Amino acid sequence: MNQVAAALELIDRALRSKGARLVAVSKYQTDERVMMAYDAGQRIFAENRVQELLAKKARFPSDCEWHFIGHLQSNKVRMLLPAVGLIHSVDSETLLEQINRESQRLGIVTRVLLQVHIAQEAHKFGLKAEEVLPLLNRCANGEFVGTRVGGLMGMASLCEDERQIGKEFSGLSALFSDAKDLYGTRLADFKELSMGMSGDYPIALQYGSTMIRLGSGVFQPDDAQQ
Ligand SMILES: *Cc1c(COP(=O)(O)O)cnc(C)c1O
Repeated sequence: MNQVAAALELIDRALRSKGARLVAVSKYQTDERVMMAYDAGQRIFAENRVQELLAKKARFPSDCEWHFIGHLQSNKVRMLLPAVGLIHSVDSETLLEQINRESQRLGIVTRVLLQVHIAQEAHKFGLKAEEVLPLLNRCANGEFVGTRVGGLMGMASLCEDERQIGKEFSGLSALFSDAKDLYGTRLADFKELSMGMSGDYPIALQYGSTMIRLGSGVFQPDDAQQ
């Protein structure tokens, strides 16, 4: 068994008891490694650049689902929409409005998650926690018929402090629960909590993540263990 398949098997075991799914982050990886994951059964992949997502989608088998996880520039929205299975990184109200408008123009419904800023670092994108419920209220009132809001996404601080990471994931998880309580019946698809990367996914799973996004931990498992 190759290294990628072996890593996937271990991750799968950790996920199965939790009912969460793996999004394999294929950015910067060689086609050969991505294909190893495909051959091992992985079908959901993610990219953080629009051109790269479009190129990979064209090269890989058509039963792959391509997710977008990067900051989405407004001039790339139209290009991305027909190709993408889920956008994890809707980080502003303006972007949601634009995705909605373009989706309606294309006659499609785009699945999105709202990205919430939970880390201490100032440079990371995302909605402020207090912006989330008002925006979901607009969604629940039917203002965004070109999108389907599937849940929330967040990235914890890039640090070794497990207590800090736990605090951030726990905060996002609480916001997710509140949102589900308030809008779950009107937003039937609101059920995904995308949190956890290679360095912190065990903590994210403790706090109810339903989708972990792993790059190095899948494709370079040896490096990741160092
Ligand atoms: C790159 C990236 C990941 C994967 O990071 P790893 O540490 O390699 O697992 C997950 N989420 C986002 C938003 C990313 O940009």
